[in-house]
Amino acid sequence: MSLRSIRIGRLAGIPIGIQPLWFLIVALITWTLGAVYYPDQAPGIAVPLAYGLGLLSALLLFASILLHELGHAVVARRHGVEIEEIDLWLLGGVARMSGYPKAAKDELRFALAGPAVTLLIAAAFAAVALALPSSTPSAVTAVVFYQAFVNTTILVFNLLPAFPLDGGRVMRALIWSRNGDLAQATKTAAAIGRGLGYGMIGVGVLATLAGALGGLWLALIGLFVTAAAKAEENGLLVRTALGGREAGKLMAFPAITVPAKISVSEAVADYFVPHRFSAFPVLDGGRLVGLIDASTVERVPAPRRVSTSVEEIAIREPSLVIDEGQDVADLLERPAFQRVGRAVVIASDGRVGILSITDVNRVLRALELGGQLTAHPRSA
Ligand SMILES: [Zn+2]
Repeated sequence: MSLRSIRIGRLAGIPIGIQPLWFLIVALITWTLGAVYYPDQAPGIAVPLAYGLGLLSALLLFASILLHELGHAVVARRHGVEIEEIDLWLLGGVARMSGYPKAAKDELRFALAGPAVTLLIAAAFAAVALALPSSTPSAVTAVVFYQAFVNTTILVFNLLPAFPLDGGRVMRALIWSRNGDLAQATKTAAAIGRGLGYGMIGVGVLATLAGALGGLWLALIGLFVTAAAKAEENGLLVRTALGGREAGKLMAFPAITVPAKISVSEAVADYFVPHRFSAFPVLDGGRLVGLIDASTVERVPAPRRVSTSVEEIAIREPSLVIDEGQDVADLLERPAFQRVGRAVVIASDGRVGILSITDVNRVLRALELGGQLTAHPRSA
């Protein structure tokens, strides 16, 4: 479920992305409304108008979901949690937080903010539908009624207690406020979320086999819920296990460094082959230039390795140069570290070490075997 989303702009300073699947959804909604719903509600409606209203309805739904996610974002921000981006996905959106709420009551407010917005939207459309005079063209009534209906559906769906849906977040906040343990509350909420996700897949598949195509939606959402619950749980458990661990404690130190001015072929012959490490910090005199790894070398065609210097191909990513006090859990969340898999650690004496994602995973594995990864980092 990690298709790259397309950035469409910013709202309230928050980047808004759309998953490519969303275009398919808009087309699907436009088509079903244009072919079935509007001709049903307004008999004799012109075909282009029916499809036009279908597209309008899909876009209004899109705006409703965006407002829902903005509701989450605004409240989260007020409680000190930054929102990295809002991603619109199938029947809803995801507001990606760059941290975790500090208290259960913040999480509760954050989780309820989106549904509160959707409730307002649904109520507003319902009120308009009721207030419309009987002389209103039936196509117009149908547009308003559809928004009331679809926003109510979104409201009910999002309040299912399937973490990470909003209802699941509410449940996690309630468990968290009771036992004071975010990791344990996440585990419980994620387990219930996964259970419900599998249930949705099962019911969805059976319904589809029985001829109800809506079951396909349910199965898709179930798939999303199970995957998302697992990802949220893993992310938090890793953070809990690693939180407060410093890079200096996990790095390989001191690292063998490669001079910036030598050629790539010399680096291979004098460093990569004899030392059998796959990455080295690159130094120009005493100055740190960046790092070089095997895949960077592989991208230089063999005939050019003699004429290319290490300096030219070194990875110079500022977020990959850290000091030894750096929290490893924060480092793990940096996109550059996830991509390159290594960071250069500068020790207090000025010498450098290297921390690889493999080292971090090894520590995690060891913690797991020791039984400490499950909940409490207190003895760590
Ligand atoms: Zn929500």
